[in-house]
Amino acid sequence: TVVGDGRPAPPPADPPGGWTEPREPVPAGMLAELTYRCPLHCTYCSNPLAPSGGELFTEDWLRVLDQARDLGVLQVHFSGGEPLLRTDLTALVARAHRLGLYSNLITSGIPMSDAAIGSLAAAGLDHVQLSIQDADPAAGDAVAGLRAHARKREAAALVRRYGLPLTVNVVLHAGNVDRLAEIADLAVGLGADRLELAHTQFYGWAWRNRAALLPTADQLARADEAAAGVKERHGDRVEIVYVAADYHATRPKPCMRGWGRRQLVVAPDGGVLPCLSAAQLPGLDVVDVRAADLAWIWYDSPAFNRFRGTAWMPAPCRDCALREVDFGGCRCQAYQLLGDAALTDPACDLSPHHGVLAGLAARAERVAAVPRRLPR
Ligand code: SF4
Repeated sequence: TVVGDGRPAPPPADPPGGWTEPREPVPAGMLAELTYRCPLHCTYCSNPLAPSGGELFTEDWLRVLDQARDLGVLQVHFSGGEPLLRTDLTALVARAHRLGLYSNLITSGIPMSDAAIGSLAAAGLDHVQLSIQDADPAAGDAVAGLRAHARKREAAALVRRYGLPLTVNVVLHAGNVDRLAEIADLAVGLGADRLELAHTQFYGWAWRNRAALLPTADQLARADEAAAGVKERHGDRVEIVYVAADYHATRPKPCMRGWGRRQLVVAPDGGVLPCLSAAQLPGLDVVDVRAADLAWIWYDSPAFNRFRGTAWMPAPCRDCALREVDFGGCRCQAYQLLGDAALTDPACDLSPHHGVLAGLAARAERVAAVPRRLPR
């Protein structure tokens, strides 16, 4: 990393306790959700509908970072809400850097200033992931609930000025998916090294607003074609990731690359979760990171062992050749759509409940026939 004045960021030192050999499974990544506060109010936000109050103090997060490194974590994603609202963000990035963790800031870009991004770069921040809502400024601002579009362009310019690698993340939905190509061109023009074009995942507010957000089958077919065109136009210079739409799929996504297998989430209130939506699952005994060591929570807590591995799987997953490829899909999606987190994700067409998704997709066609609340 090179900071704004041309000086390289200080190299990371060995962690205070030295390096330890991690046990399997090793959580390569930690999502540190610093706050649920956010100046934007995106209609597809995955934040919980009723987040619990309170946020960890700085010293709590510093201890979490130390414990994460001991556990074998290599990457920390500072997220939210909007992590730039935390006044201790630079201190947390600096600690992550000192521990040798690769740090990624997942941000809306608001509020971002030259001073803020400069101090984060100097502290050793490795990467920025910036969200944009649309290529059409008015449509994007309507989804964000704030005049955000122009400020996001400025934020991207600041990130590039400090020489930080930039991923642009775009959530696709019925209101913007027909502009996928323009959105991709905008992201490339902003200097993105990597572009994520991801169809909405229906958790949190997206679940509540799914009738307005679900694209039609025709829209999805056009989007798939547009995404292929974007890869052809920009794929030699920019890494392009296109995340398919769940509700029109025949196979589920390997959620979090397997429950308790590669990643963990620390929520703003200290709850440690196998995925960012797991707090909604009834009976999941979520442990607060202030009450137990992160290693115990990861290896031994009932919550992380509830759906770890394959022993918990019902038919048809338990005998399926793909059970260690997609891990039976998403537990939260099974719970939201079927009322039971221990069932096969209905996104899989081998699930006896796959028809539920066809019903939702048909609903999108009916909703498309009436005027949308979201701008097109
Ligand atoms: Fe994946 Fe289960 Fe479907 Fe097999 S049956 S493809 S393991 S979700």
